[in-house]
Amino acid sequence: MEREGKKEKSPCGKDCSERRRRIAKSIREILETLGFDIARSDLRDTPSRVAEMYWEIFRGEREENEPKLTVFPNDEGYRSMVMVRDIPFYSMCAHHLVPFFGVGHIGYIPAESIVGLSKLARVLEHFARRPQVQERLTEQVADFLQKKLNPRGVMVVLEARHLCMEMRGVEKPGALTMTTTTRGTFDVEEGVDYRKEFLRHLLRPGSVPR
Ligand code: ZN
Repeated sequence: MEREGKKEKSPCGKDCSERRRRIAKSIREILETLGFDIARSDLRDTPSRVAEMYWEIFRGEREENEPKLTVFPNDEGYRSMVMVRDIPFYSMCAHHLVPFFGVGHIGYIPAESIVGLSKLARVLEHFARRPQVQERLTEQVADFLQKKLNPRGVMVVLEARHLCMEMRGVEKPGALTMTTTTRGTFDVEEGVDYRKEFLRHLLRPGSVPR
């Protein structure tokens, strides 16, 4: 996972710290209501720690953190699919506020512009950092790329484990939820079936050592 996303501008300044303080207060209330002794050494700083953590893992909800998608002219005239697979991501289920996490695979077919490959991972990370449902995350990544990069097509596949399904509820550890979406042309174009090609790449174990 990229670290550069951590550098966050803080345009709200004082307001940001006030909001974190209010989150900490609310967490403290939850813990106390649950009957925990908040003075315990392991719990004493938990409210402010959780507030800092929420501020970080929900930063994708704050507009100022939207990734700048620097695009470059497609001078080489590359016309086939560009795909980055196995991009790890972590998100929080909007219904239960517990993590869902997995890997994303993003492909696009360039038109006039191409984009730095690390930006594809940044886009997924940005939209993952908010209360999410996997279906919406998949669509938001595709929409953002379609809008900013204006490619001939985009395809996004996410595979994730949902802790709300594993540690509570139906308790099905290890179940994988898959979501897939496409934008633009992702069908047969000039004799190439890009959707099939995308899925074929996913089935390969990959030959680059990891
Ligand atoms: Zn859930």
